[in-house]
Amino acid sequence: MIEVRAVSKSFGNIKALENVSFDIEKGEIFGILGPNGAGKSTIVNILNTLVKPDMGDVIIDGFNIRNDDDSIKLIMGVVPQEIALYEELSAYENLMFWGGLYNIPKPELKKNINKTLEIVDLAGRKDDRIKTFSGGMKRRINIACSMLHNPKILVLDEPTAGVDPQNRNHIFEVIERLNYEGITIIYTTHYMEEAERFCDKISIIDVGHIIAQGTLKELRQISNVKDLLTIKLAAAESEIISRITSENPLFRYESASNSIKVECINIGKETSVIINQIQNAGAVIERIYTQGTNLESIYLKLTGKELRD
Ligand code: ADP
Ligand code: MG
Repeated sequence: MIEVRAVSKSFGNIKALENVSFDIEKGEIFGILGPNGAGKSTIVNILNTLVKPDMGDVIIDGFNIRNDDDSIKLIMGVVPQEIALYEELSAYENLMFWGGLYNIPKPELKKNINKTLEIVDLAGRKDDRIKTFSGGMKRRINIACSMLHNPKILVLDEPTAGVDPQNRNHIFEVIERLNYEGITIIYTTHYMEEAERFCDKISIIDVGHIIAQGTLKELRQISNVKDLLTIKLAAAESEIISRITSENPLFRYESASNSIKVECINIGKETSVIINQIQNAGAVIERIYTQGTNLESIYLKLTGKELRD
């Protein structure tokens, strides 16, 4: 449904994007994960036809971003990173204003406003001024504004940045509901747990480059991150420990925690063998911990750094 081919974009001498390519299928939730300055909003603005790439092509549902701006705006809703609402107007008046930009016949617009207010669960607050809303509620109204023309594709640029956990969950539910109704979602974030929670495919981007992309399973393979098995020993007997580690070069002893650590390709199958080997060497096991691969460990392996706010 969306094809991005070898897109590059510079602002002066800042290379915001370099040779970025990806495909998004209809009905997918596609996550773009990266720290501040990675180029996420630049991608959003290119999809939205606000910014033209220096090189490369983008085709959205058969339309080219270079010539078909109007057609693309009709099939795409965009929730920008910055909230754009009139504080002195009510939620309903804001929706009337934003919907009014799309030449939607009044009766249909009113119907759509009521429907989207239900979806974002703010129908009860529709006549209250925006200035009385919390940051998370404003975000939800912002999402509603982008849905009034019934777009097939919804692009959300860091919709949960600075939003409290309760509103965040509300936003997740809205996105999941819209996706369930068949809308293709593009979602940028710098929160790994969000990308991991509901994105079908994730593109990891840093300083304008795509580092890796795919499903979580594919990213796990690409990064070659393994599950970690940690076996804490009851006593630190150096003779037994050296017997364990000398027989098994993959076993690592960590003295601070008095544990044997082993990276596993298939932790379910390997655990019993590893436990037997340790017990046969004469050690008494106190506890066993397992740590599966998550997006955080994959990200760390691929980029060599942590992703922080
Ligand atoms: P993100 O949304 O991932 O934080 P952006 O796409 O906003 O990243 O920015 C990517 C890079 O491009 C940054 O270095 C940013 O400063 C730069 N940039 C973005 N927009 C502009 C602009 N209009 N003019 C100059 N530099 C820009
Ligand atoms: Mg941004």
